[in-house]
Amino acid sequence: MSEIRAGKIEGDHPAGQTTVPTAHRGGGLDGASVRARFPLLQPDGAGARIIYLDSAATAQRPDVVLEAVAKFYRTENANVHRGIYDLSRRATERYEGARAALARFIKAPDKEELVWTRGTTEAINLVAATWGQENLGPGDEILLTTLEHHSNIVPWQLLARRVAARIRYVDIDEEGRLRLEQYDELLSERTRIVALGHVSNALGTINPVAEVIERARQVGARVLVDGAQAAPHLPIDVQSLGCDFYAISGHKMCGPMGIGALWARRELLEEMPPYQGGGEMIETVLPDESTWAPVPHKFEAGTPNVAGAVGMAAAAAFLESLGRDQVRAHELDLVEYGMDRLDRVEGLRLFGPRDPADRIAVFSFSMEGIHPHDVATILDAENIAVRAGHHCTQPLMRRLAVPATTRASCYVYNTREDLDRLVEGLDRARQIFS
Ligand code: PLP
Repeated sequence: MSEIRAGKIEGDHPAGQTTVPTAHRGGGLDGASVRARFPLLQPDGAGARIIYLDSAATAQRPDVVLEAVAKFYRTENANVHRGIYDLSRRATERYEGARAALARFIKAPDKEELVWTRGTTEAINLVAATWGQENLGPGDEILLTTLEHHSNIVPWQLLARRVAARIRYVDIDEEGRLRLEQYDELLSERTRIVALGHVSNALGTINPVAEVIERARQVGARVLVDGAQAAPHLPIDVQSLGCDFYAISGHKMCGPMGIGALWARRELLEEMPPYQGGGEMIETVLPDESTWAPVPHKFEAGTPNVAGAVGMAAAAAFLESLGRDQVRAHELDLVEYGMDRLDRVEGLRLFGPRDPADRIAVFSFSMEGIHPHDVATILDAENIAVRAGHHCTQPLMRRLAVPATTRASCYVYNTREDLDRLVEGLDRARQIFS
């Protein structure tokens, strides 16, 4: 397992600069050096700092992302496309350049296969409402898993109701891993789409998506991968995965809120009807009918979130500069360390896979005799931010037979020391409730 070693980040980082000095030596990151790049995580005047363990809900933003967004508004702000003047041309270049950067980030073959959305939720709704509406009918099946976030359930329920399709769920085993033998049983020619998370936000499980996709192909089903929790933590290659749709959110990967992307194969995008109507997405508008702009613009009605796109590209560059493999190595170290420490807390039940290779550094747990909200409140009093609740995965909570869990989720700026502080806080919660 990689060891966290001292790294050093030097120099300043001019606004908009997307290449940041790397913080890794050998196989991991120095979380404390990485943290130095995140203004919100710095100690206050009294020397206290927040121990931020809620990155699965939203990550913090490094200086380069904040600067890229500010620089856009300070020096490049104009509406994009069709502008005759230089400023608009520059804004368009930045916007389309960001699209190309995100396409590279997930190894998409063509930047025009990347549609900007508000986030993963909107990306999945877009697919369900367009591709789904065109391609599903009565009796067709949508295959989901018990691990899904509500964003990858409710859009399919809305579709299923409209077209009289049926939703089926692949269950999990006791460690929160997909039951692939049951998946095989559920897959049939009636399965039109399999939609699953690459990584579970609630348990941290990394799903064997390549295998799931391969098996779906054999029955001719399309596959949508919800990559909201995977893109921040793992190197992503949509081509080698072989999926049809891949959805990501900027704010989970150190980028701004309100921006995300849908990647889809060009031939699918070409066939799909528009999602929303308005400016930007048309070619010609006549009183009674219109024609559509080429993909991806056909799906981008209205003034886009240009600063968001620029910020998300800066976030992608930041993660690349750290090294995607180093990010994973750092988190694996936190997974191993965290599991070892949490296993020794009295009365704590840790959910999710036992093999560190099958999970990211998300620790979901319950504590005997203490409600998750009380755990989170006690930790909050010590400036440790964790989440307690159903994590937008109510079917999963039902499956685990718990009303809620406490979830501590780590990212590039967390350290073993943060996990020590978490465990100390949990020990104190135990004392209070004993
Ligand atoms: N899917 C997963 C696995 C998530 O964790 C989240 C957010 O928590 C979403 C989808 C929804 O993402 P967004 O709120 O950015 O649209």
